[in-house]
Amino acid sequence: MNQNQITIIGGGLSGLIAAYLLAKHGKEVLLIEKKSYPFHRVCGEYISNEVRDFLIKENLFPSCFNPAEINTFRLSAVNGALAEVPLDLGGFGISRYNFDHFLYQKCQEVGVKFLLKTQIATIDYIAKKKLFDLSTNHGERLVSPIVLAAYGKRSKIDKYLKRPYLKQRSPYIGIKHHIKITQADHIVALHNYEGGYLGINRVENGHFNLCYLGSRTQLKAAGNIPAMEQQYLFKNPHIKAIYEGAEFLWEKPEVINEISFATKSPVENQVIMIGDAAGMITPLCGNGMAIAIHSGKLAANAILKHKNLKAVQEEYTKAWNYFFYSRLRTGRAVQRLFGAPLVSKLAVNVLKKSPFLAKKLILQTHGAPIK
Ligand SMILES: Cc1cc2nc3c(=O)[nH]c(=O)nc-3n(C[C@H](O)[C@H](O)[C@H](O)COP(=O)(O)OP(=O)(O)OC[C@H]3O[C@@H](n4cnc5c(N)ncnc54)[C@H](O)[C@@H]3O)c2cc1C
Repeated sequence: MNQNQITIIGGGLSGLIAAYLLAKHGKEVLLIEKKSYPFHRVCGEYISNEVRDFLIKENLFPSCFNPAEINTFRLSAVNGALAEVPLDLGGFGISRYNFDHFLYQKCQEVGVKFLLKTQIATIDYIAKKKLFDLSTNHGERLVSPIVLAAYGKRSKIDKYLKRPYLKQRSPYIGIKHHIKITQADHIVALHNYEGGYLGINRVENGHFNLCYLGSRTQLKAAGNIPAMEQQYLFKNPHIKAIYEGAEFLWEKPEVINEISFATKSPVENQVIMIGDAAGMITPLCGNGMAIAIHSGKLAANAILKHKNLKAVQEEYTKAWNYFFYSRLRTGRAVQRLFGAPLVSKLAVNVLKKSPFLAKKLILQTHGAPIK
């Protein structure tokens, strides 16, 4: 068993970025991912330009896919009232299918080792040996001096770690379609409906991502996804028009449930949590991916700077709190404004009548571009 290699659990954006930076700077890195690239996952696929310069600098910007350039935000209320504001920073649109696969290949180029189609089932810290002891669902045992948990918003292993956030059940489900539609390329739109909100923006190949955060109760009441969409989402005329004008590219959408925005911690059971595993910002802010990338970078920086686990944990926790704590809190507060008829109407009015205030709100959930 190699006792020196850093183990990363999960190969989404946070895990891939941390793996890439660590391996590039000479560390031995093993990344364990339960699926096999490329694969689709539920995500709105709008990436804030906060991370653009960093990705370009590291040669990780996926320009080969010609991502959509997005610079305008459109918001509709439950009743269909509409407003639009330019986005100061903006972002780009690319499918996770291609982006994650692209980063996986970049990681291989710098020597990251991968165990795919493998899940970490248990993880324990053996203080006497200063080592983590991990086991996979295939019965393999691994040891590692540092473990990064990059396994996303919810994983079976959270139960093993007895993470407190699991005590609260979440009412949210996430659903993603890829569609073809004639619509402006430069707009990311957020359409509210009673009980949820739906985002739409272009990704590569002229396709559009249509992704929404919905309600488990509505799905149960309607019986299935198409019936739920007709019964609840279509009450917003913009959503109805999108569905009626679109060609749906997949037989079935990607679906996830139990999406929790509960407060978590950047270090738990000695494990360094990155990306959504440390805490998830509500999707309407449109920067969970930027935070995942940034937190992967912060964790890699701390590991490269310190030899001792405690020092790494302290530096990472401080940086995580500095960059993300209040943004996640504001995201949770803003989320409460959405999906309710009156309040979403108010939000549209704010956007229309006071773009300055709207911009301030957007800034509260976004960070400065990272280098
Ligand atoms: C409905 C919805 C819409 C969204 N829209 C946007 C958007 O438009 N813009 C944006 O910036 N963000 C958006 N987000 C948020 C964004 O998707 C996440 O913040 C981001 O993907 C987090 O990256 P991550 O690396 O933490 O985790 P993930 O990308 O979720 O990756 C985690 C990986 O870990 C693997 N894994 C899990 N458990 C194990 C295990 N035990 N062993 C091994 N592997 C494991 C999984 O297979 C997965 O590949 C959205 C989220 C939702 C739910």
